[in-house]
Amino acid sequence: MIINFNNNNSVSFISHIQKLINFNFRIMPEKNTIMQISDNILEHAFKKIKSISIKAAVFNKIINTVFNSFCILSLLISFSACSPSSTNNVEPPASPAKSAVSDVSFNFDTKTVKLNSGYEMPVIGLGTYSLKDDICVNSVSAALQNGYRLIDTAYIYHNEESVGKGIRESGVPREEIFITTKLYMNQYADAENAINEALKKLDVDYIDLMLLHHPGAHDIEAYKAMEKAVSEGKIRSIGLSNYYIDELEDFLPQITIMPALIQNEIHPYYQENEVIKYMLEKGIVMEAWYPLGGRGHTAELFNNETIAEIAKVHNKSSAQIILRWHLQKGVVAIPGSSNPEHIKENMNIFDFELTAEDMKKINSLDRNEKHDWY
Ligand code: NAD
Repeated sequence: MIINFNNNNSVSFISHIQKLINFNFRIMPEKNTIMQISDNILEHAFKKIKSISIKAAVFNKIINTVFNSFCILSLLISFSACSPSSTNNVEPPASPAKSAVSDVSFNFDTKTVKLNSGYEMPVIGLGTYSLKDDICVNSVSAALQNGYRLIDTAYIYHNEESVGKGIRESGVPREEIFITTKLYMNQYADAENAINEALKKLDVDYIDLMLLHHPGAHDIEAYKAMEKAVSEGKIRSIGLSNYYIDELEDFLPQITIMPALIQNEIHPYYQENEVIKYMLEKGIVMEAWYPLGGRGHTAELFNNETIAEIAKVHNKSSAQIILRWHLQKGVVAIPGSSNPEHIKENMNIFDFELTAEDMKKINSLDRNEKHDWY
């Protein structure tokens, strides 16, 4: 079992632990460390978590009391400020990114969605996790030549240079391409330099979308560094990855620019419907990693009877059915592949539509089955 002790906030920390307990196999008791635990200490861990949960509940109660007192005080102050004799009628500065909820519905003609930052983003792209060196260069180039305009990379994939090279070799103009990269946790304490490093490795003047890869120590500072980079024109849109509702509730009050997008594990066996609903209502676009279930799990999904039957009716592959299902749910998908045929196939999903009945059938396959720990 893995328990991630990186989260600073005790409440989301607890929920994180509880979430992970359901699915996982290892434990990380110290920051940035991983420890295998055996079954006999697992019981002890559960007891500990229960006791921390009680402490968290007390902590919550205190916070709520302080918060309520603060609200009453604020109401009294604003009441006196509204009185005719008051001259203090200056409005508090609104946070533009947080005040407007944007329409994040997909445009299937342009194959894009408009982010809350105002930029258009393609709804299907190439994931490059595990693509290295020439394989990465060739896959990126092949994808772009086959109509892809979104490429997903990350510092931790160690392939930002190859992605940049693939973009240049494709012959597709930079401004037509949407590049996503991510800062990793070990970069958060010095995010400003990490952003410059990403620009240098990709060899581009700006990054279309930069995400924080995981919740972790210094993540607020790192996000603020990304906000600064937006104002400097180095990054156009910013967002998060592997943040769920609890993490976001904790995170949002501390930042200025609303995340444009959240990238989380989503596939037919792990649908995260509650999270998707919450994010879309906030005008945040959802993006699926492991859209096909992830390496080692794709065959299971492709051979699923329901998916295979729907594929047969539409004369499409199971992969295409799953990708189309993501898009019709309003979730951006970034399937990973170095196989030119698969790369082409995954883009060829705009000449058919799943019926409401197809969607319902795939929706019913949810097993809350996470295929990775984060
Ligand atoms: P995926 O679900 O996209 O599955 C990839 C597997 O499917 C590969 O084995 C590939 O060969 C196979 N495949 C792809 N298209 C196929 C097709 N048409 N027919 C048959 N097989 C096909 O998993 P992934 O690539 O690991 O994830 C997608 C992307 O998400 C990654 O490349 C990466 O960019 C991103 N990612 C992000 C995180 C995160 O924490 N933010 C984590 C994992 C992955």
